[in-house]
Amino acid sequence: MTRTPSRKVATVTPLRTQPAPVADPQQIAELAQQLTDGALNCREHRRHDWRPAQVTRQDYGYRRVEACDDCGSSRWQEMDSRGYLIKGGVNYSEGYLNPKGTGRVTVDGIAAYRLEAITRFLPGKRTRRAS
Ligand SMILES: [Zn+2]
Repeated sequence: MTRTPSRKVATVTPLRTQPAPVADPQQIAELAQQLTDGALNCREHRRHDWRPAQVTRQDYGYRRVEACDDCGSSRWQEMDSRGYLIKGGVNYSEGYLNPKGTGRVTVDGIAAYRLEAITRFLPGKRTRRAS
């Protein structure tokens, strides 16, 4: 059996010439209504509450998985034995991310998330969305 030599193809990421499109605040307001309470909290405050979930020793050092109890997302990090990151990534919970093409959420979008959180948690208006 002949074996085709593997060939690595270099890819070049084009420089961004235009700023990323801005998300429509009205669309963000509609998307915010679909978020769970926890996901809305992470979206509004633009951060996750990462808590260690699992650490394993690896040849290269360590692999750590952390979880956000608020929205259900998790992130993984691979680091060397001195704690320097090698690589990592985030696995977002279903429904957390905005649809592709929504655009960059600016201060107007954050205001829409904030307004949804405020109205959702008003006393007497408990329409919480469980995760
Ligand atoms: Zn989160």
